Amino acid sequence: MPDTETTMTEVGMEYDKLVELYEALDSTTKRLEKTVILADFLSMVGTEDPKILPVVTFLSLGRIFPTWSEEELGIGSKLLMKAISLVVGVTPGEVEDQMRDSGDIGSASEELLQRKVQSTLFRRPLTIEKVHQNLVKIADTAGGRSQYKKMEILRELLSSASPQEAKYITRTVIEELRVGVGEGTIKDAISQAFDTPKEVVERAQMLTNDMGLVAEVAMEEGEYGLRKLTLNPGKPVKPMLAQLSPEIQASVAEMGWALCETKYDGIRVQIHRKDDEINIFTRRLENISNAIPEIVEYIRKAILPSDFIVEGEIIVTKKGKPISFQYILQRVRRKYEIEKMREQVPLTLYLFDVLYYNRPMIDEPFCDRRKMLEKIVQIIPGKLELSDQVKVTPENPEKAEELFKKSIEGGHEGIMIKDPHAPYMPGIRGKKMLKFKATPETLDLVVVGGTYGKGKRAHFIGSFLLALRDENNDLKTLAHAATGLDDKTLMELSEMSEPLIIKKVGRRVEMVPSIILEVAFSEIIKSPEYESGYSLRFPVVKRIRPDLSLEDIDTVERIESMYQNV
Ligand code: AMP
Repeated sequence: MPDTETTMTEVGMEYDKLVELYEALDSTTKRLEKTVILADFLSMVGTEDPKILPVVTFLSLGRIFPTWSEEELGIGSKLLMKAISLVVGVTPGEVEDQMRDSGDIGSASEELLQRKVQSTLFRRPLTIEKVHQNLVKIADTAGGRSQYKKMEILRELLSSASPQEAKYITRTVIEELRVGVGEGTIKDAISQAFDTPKEVVERAQMLTNDMGLVAEVAMEEGEYGLRKLTLNPGKPVKPMLAQLSPEIQASVAEMGWALCETKYDGIRVQIHRKDDEINIFTRRLENISNAIPEIVEYIRKAILPSDFIVEGEIIVTKKGKPISFQYILQRVRRKYEIEKMREQVPLTLYLFDVLYYNRPMIDEPFCDRRKMLEKIVQIIPGKLELSDQVKVTPENPEKAEELFKKSIEGGHEGIMIKDPHAPYMPGIRGKKMLKFKATPETLDLVVVGGTYGKGKRAHFIGSFLLALRDENNDLKTLAHAATGLDDKTLMELSEMSEPLIIKKVGRRVEMVPSIILEVAFSEIIKSPEYESGYSLRFPVVKRIRPDLSLEDIDTVERIESMYQNV
């Protein structure tokens, strides 16, 4: 009588064949050789036992489930050592000692099993399918005594394994196969084995995150089938990433015109609705829906029901201003007392893209996707909003700069510059989506002059001339900063400025250096226009610093070193 229900009729390809593959892969460090070995193996499986091809694909990556899946084995190294110790008949301590000698749990199991006198004569060979099914069963085991039950399944599996098989089963269990095969190699191998273009395999994997499925479709339907694979609401895809923009205007010019958006500093989320179920994934494809139930509620309310995938950034706000990024991490990692946290750390979601709405939309240009987003989303103020966006054309380049200032003043990180014609490119960090950030550092500068505004703002000094000090404590000008502060602060600043004015020429004034401002900026540049020899790109006044005095302001030396250290 078998002691567990894991035993089944052993038919199909033997696990030993997979072990031979692992050993062959391990015997070379050259990626091209590994690819050929793997391609030959996949093609052999495709001919001899096609139904196990997806399983073999995962196992050769040392995985059991597709990337989108949240299933995991839930076996720690302690439990694994216990199982080995029971199989071999030694103490867990001895397994640990062996592990230290051999270098890893796989080699240790091999050594230990070799020493054990095995009745190999009666050993029924393990099949690839059986190993896989038992690993899946371990993952599926939950509830009371699940640790014990998991270990029993593993023990049974290891007792039927040869020493070499045990080496790779244990390594698979702890997700460290150590044969040097990554996603890149396996994609190349699939393309070689089934004669399909590499980029088509690549794209299919990007969209499905299921290498087993990709291998199967490549084998059965070739390029045509792969091209038909697409997004599936419910299964996360790797997000499109952003490159750094060297300079706003140059980036906009390269795109022709651009859609610029506020860059929110929170966490990126991909939100899926499939039938009635809503799931929220991080950029690492982790499901965080349970930690942030209010976002699930907002989504349910705000977006017309259908199957969809939308993307956005979640931030924590207090009185409309974003607060430290740390808080959002607290929320996302939280497993208990979620309701309490919900009140203490309120979240706002800014949506900025739609990848699927009734149909896959990733190949449609960004400007159309945005229009769709505007159509399907009903904003819930302060809770679920669309990203602040402006259209920047060669005729109105200043719009980008204005948005940058507004974003920094609003406490955000900078702006995104997006190519309106670009498709959504999962997992790609390309030139179609750029980010332009203020440096995290700010400067404390003193006001030495200013220029009055025009029209409605004629009574305010709208732009301040700012200076820092050199090694002799002489003041050197560095930049003009238009404050863009809210009217109240601007008024306050003007009132503080009036008594300090010593000279007035037209709209320009000179002032006694006294008011100190904290200034954010995007970049330090060399400039002959200012006495310091440097200037700031996109300076934005963040706040007045009445707590600082002239000795506290920044120095030319600091600017020089910041400039050099970029
Ligand atoms: P980084 O994390 O610095 O590479 O910047 C890119 C990230 O900015 C994205 O992955 C998003 O998480 C985030 N982000 C914030 N606001 C936006 C926006 N409006 N559009 C796209 N991404 C945004």
